[in-house]
Amino acid sequence: MFIENFKVDSPNVKYTESEIHSLYNYETTELVHENKNGTYQWTVKPKTVKYEFKTDVHVPKLGVMLVGWGGNNGSTLTGGVIANREGISWATKDKVQQANYFGSLTQASSIRVGSFNGEEIYAPFKSLLPMVNPDDIVFGGWDISKMNLADAMARARVFDIDLQKQLRPYMENMVPLPGIYDPDFIAANQGARANNVIKGTKKEQVQQIIKDMREFKEKNKVDKVVVLWTANTERYSNVIVGLNDTVENLFASLEKNEAEISPSTLYAIACILENIPFINGSPQNTFVPGLIDLAIQRNSLIGGDDFKSGQTKMKSVLVDFLVGAGIKPTSIVSYNHLGNNDGMNLSAPQTFRSKEISKSNVVDDMVASNGILYEPGEHPDHVVVIKYVPYVGDSKRAMDEYTSEIFMGGTNTIVLHNTCEDSLLAAPIILDLVLLAELSTRIQLKAETEGKFHSFHPVATILSYLSKAPLVPPGTPVVNALSKQRAMLENIMRACVGLAPENNMILEYK
Ligand code: NAD
Repeated sequence: MFIENFKVDSPNVKYTESEIHSLYNYETTELVHENKNGTYQWTVKPKTVKYEFKTDVHVPKLGVMLVGWGGNNGSTLTGGVIANREGISWATKDKVQQANYFGSLTQASSIRVGSFNGEEIYAPFKSLLPMVNPDDIVFGGWDISKMNLADAMARARVFDIDLQKQLRPYMENMVPLPGIYDPDFIAANQGARANNVIKGTKKEQVQQIIKDMREFKEKNKVDKVVVLWTANTERYSNVIVGLNDTVENLFASLEKNEAEISPSTLYAIACILENIPFINGSPQNTFVPGLIDLAIQRNSLIGGDDFKSGQTKMKSVLVDFLVGAGIKPTSIVSYNHLGNNDGMNLSAPQTFRSKEISKSNVVDDMVASNGILYEPGEHPDHVVVIKYVPYVGDSKRAMDEYTSEIFMGGTNTIVLHNTCEDSLLAAPIILDLVLLAELSTRIQLKAETEGKFHSFHPVATILSYLSKAPLVPPGTPVVNALSKQRAMLENIMRACVGLAPENNMILEYK
């Protein structure tokens, strides 16, 4: 059965006009080990830590500024939200289609809240905590191409033509602000669309971005802004001691107009200085060490990297399943071909390299979790190929072959073929990223050992379900397995309303 919403009735939870306050027992473990004649003996001690959570229930009017607003993702997301807001339906060759938010974890998935008369009861994911309604988001942003969003939607060739016609009047007057363009960081083939660029030194460009964000906030009367990079994949920037390794060196390099500071890093600097959350939806290393330190110093949310939309998402499910079933994946080979502008940009070796890196580590945590299957340091062969094929447009093809060792030396080969409009996968993920980033800035927590409430660490691991290469604070484990990432997010939100983690034990019926 499905219910629309619920309230928790518990001595551990207090709902007031301004906040939800919860007391929460975090059940965890403490590990100790002893070296006994060369072999380690491990002891696991269960441990309970008392936490308090405070969630501000005031849902702000939210502005979202996209870097690369006029791209396939940017125009698809903007059009999709308008279609939902306006209740637009359109004729396809099959049926009359209604706008929806399918593919969004927050808007279209559910959570289990319990059993009632022998039936499992589910509620919308978004009913856990007060969240911004995506229909109310005001969109804006930058693009190095000055094409308006209606034309950009047509250029993207993602939406059905009847939908495009209905959306056009809403999108014609949306024109991206000039962006920071540096041809050294994206493929040379992007030069032709760069007709809307900010001039000046890197420092002046950062100042311009700050001015843009302030004006956007003022003009649209929004309470909060979140910025998200959905522009082209950049090449990796070199991390060099003295250049971008510390906050001081990063700012000194900005003063000196150093060539190696990428446009994405410049946008992120501007956001952190304004305390505006910045999320990186592409694979490049925007978050150089000096920038991460700046975000930590200023307690300003950063998250990324690279949307986990298709092939990698499947990988982080399938390998988790295989390794969890005691089956040993030994070779994972992934081919992609796509014909959108992102595909064209990735046809340059240096930008492809960024994608290859972000796709490469996705199975590490799963492999490392099973010492029965893998020797220390052993890893399956893992190869990723991406080719640009203009004809297929945004409809990306992903073909994967997983070969595994099974019982008694047997071999199992699984082949997947996935065809899907890339932007229809990415747009709901962008939505979740900005909605969850906003929500997480309204949550405060405190362990019993801590004197006062604090926000989550500014490096937002809470967004890792949506990220191909989750950015984590230094010294923090990286979790790629999708089910664990989802459980982490859901269980933290449950903790905020004093609910225990979903344990799937159903002891009531045992
Ligand atoms: P796109 O090429 O259609 O859009 C990118 C836009 O960014 C273009 O309009 C371009 O003009 C603009 N741009 C480039 N550099 C800019 C800059 N410095 N400042 C402002 N604007 C700039 O690409 P897309 O299909 O929308 O994908 C966007 C990004 O999302 C890519 O990096 C892609 O790798 C990443 N991504 C997409 C998916 C997916 O499923 N679609 C998944 C993971 C990651």
